[in-house]
Amino acid sequence: MLVVNLPIPDPKNLPALKFSPRCVHCGQPTSEVLPLNLPMGVEKRSKPVMLKLEVPLCTQGAKLERKLAKVTLIPFLIGGLLMGLIACILTWLLVPDLSSSTSREAVYADWIIAGSVGLIVAIIAGSLVEMAFKLLFAPVYGKMLFKRPLTAMEIFSNSENVLGLYAALSKDKKQLTLTFEREEVGREFQHLNL
Ligand SMILES: [Zn+2]
Repeated sequence: MLVVNLPIPDPKNLPALKFSPRCVHCGQPTSEVLPLNLPMGVEKRSKPVMLKLEVPLCTQGAKLERKLAKVTLIPFLIGGLLMGLIACILTWLLVPDLSSSTSREAVYADWIIAGSVGLIVAIIAGSLVEMAFKLLFAPVYGKMLFKRPLTAMEIFSNSENVLGLYAALSKDKKQLTLTFEREEVGREFQHLNL
């Protein structure tokens, strides 16, 4: 394992990071890339700036990575979306009608309340569905699945996991930390970028 720290002096002018064309998972020569995007929390020309990483994976690695997403990210998104939507509608129906009030904020208050409840329920329910999928597929994927944090955790901690690589932005977004499972792949990355 090798940890590489990269300073980010300017969040609006990001360094173009290069990976050597070797699978981060197994080290084999490869040409397939998996794009990762980490939000920098700033905007440039009114678009959010994303730190882009083009992570090389071999065909088998990419296939396995997609399979893992199917039992983690996808259940989180679908479960969260469905439950969030139901919670949003129920809340909207149950909140007393505030639109008779004269103040401007009150006109939209029930929508804001319904939206917030929907979002919170989406995150919690999505995570529960994801956990259920992880337990269900534990016999198939084993440790690989549990090493990976829940999608909601990744979103809140500004990090991404793929097979063989863990990428995380520091809280102040001034440093990117890449943890390579394979030392030689990490060394090549260091040569190309530091
Ligand atoms: Zn591979």
